[in-house]
Amino acid sequence: MKFKNFPMVPRVIFGRGSFNALGDILMPVRRNSESPFIFLVDDVFERREDLLSRIPLMFEDRVIFINSWEEPKTEQVDALVEMIKAGSAEMPSGIIGIGGGTIMDLAKAAALCLTNEGGAAKYQGWDLIRKKGVYHVGVPTISGTGAEVSRTTVLTGPEKKLGINSDFTPFDQVVLDPELTAGVPKDQWFYTGMDCFIHCVESLEGHYLNAFSQSYGEKAHEMCVEVFTHGDMPAEEQQDKLMMASWHGGMSIAYSQVGVAHALSYGLSYELGVRHGIGNCMVFDHLEDYYPEGVRMFKTMKETHDITLPQGVCSDLTSDQFANMTRVALSLEPLWENALGKNWKDVIDERKVRELYEKI
Ligand code: NAD
Ligand code: ZN
Repeated sequence: MKFKNFPMVPRVIFGRGSFNALGDILMPVRRNSESPFIFLVDDVFERREDLLSRIPLMFEDRVIFINSWEEPKTEQVDALVEMIKAGSAEMPSGIIGIGGGTIMDLAKAAALCLTNEGGAAKYQGWDLIRKKGVYHVGVPTISGTGAEVSRTTVLTGPEKKLGINSDFTPFDQVVLDPELTAGVPKDQWFYTGMDCFIHCVESLEGHYLNAFSQSYGEKAHEMCVEVFTHGDMPAEEQQDKLMMASWHGGMSIAYSQVGVAHALSYGLSYELGVRHGIGNCMVFDHLEDYYPEGVRMFKTMKETHDITLPQGVCSDLTSDQFANMTRVALSLEPLWENALGKNWKDVIDERKVRELYEKI
């Protein structure tokens, strides 16, 4: 058995309004007045003075607004790193990502690629990063992905969609302020929240399950079900709980693995650009043969919140497109092994994967 000795986020602050502590948190980390903090902020906040006015800017610090409509790409990370380098003579004191999984992943990747040369695509894989990145902070503004705790940053590159998985990837500091999630539109709240629910189901139903993953996974699952089934839960309690569910769901998969939904969703995203949260939902909706109880609960939650998923997305695809999606999905071997066991190749093949895609 291979034991994972994985790094955890060393510092985390939690609570409504805890974002106000960011200035105090950053102060001792600032190297000097010429070494700025770079705040990467989801552009949904571009006119949100309630948040912008509380970003603790000093000296040469910069705010860079980023649109999260498309998921992060390696070339986007490279351009960002160039822009940051061009902006000041000194290496930044730190990178702070304020947004969802997209912005947090960009912040992690930029922090790593500032000190590791050669472009982000070079580091897509496992443990290819050799040098510690720049100090980096994650501030989630939507809950579910677990990107705030994970040791990966998921990037689409020229050849693959694959994370930079390394011991240097996790944030040095995370700020969990559930108040920041207040403005998330309902559909997106559901999709990203379901990412967490699906993490839990795939972890708890997987062959890699162990007491460590189970302890986090069960708690996160319980909180997701509470949030998405108790219609009368006050908004504040809902925001607090979903933020902690995301954290625990991320911790659960850190010591196990995701499964069929994520494998198929990665293929969908690579070929058609379907985003992670909604892609997972579109796939999971058809996985009753693999996760019967989870899918039943998912459908109930979907109906409760009146969520309509796109239909027929794969109905007009060419054979080449199906082949690409299937290739990407089946290349994620640990996910299939977790879901179906060591002999997973006897259970699933290209034809079966294509049949699943055809339902979407
Ligand atoms: P996201 O960051 O893509 O954001 C989704 C939408 O929500 C965007 O339109 C954004 O503008 C909006 N939004 C975010 N916060 C808001 C707020 N407070 N108010 C109003 N709108 C808000 O969504 P996500 O689901 O958090 O992240 C998806 C990304 O995370 C994907 O790129 C996926 O690959 C990645 N991911 C990473 C990990 C990891 O471990 N690193 C895990 C899962 C997913
Ligand atoms: Zn996920």
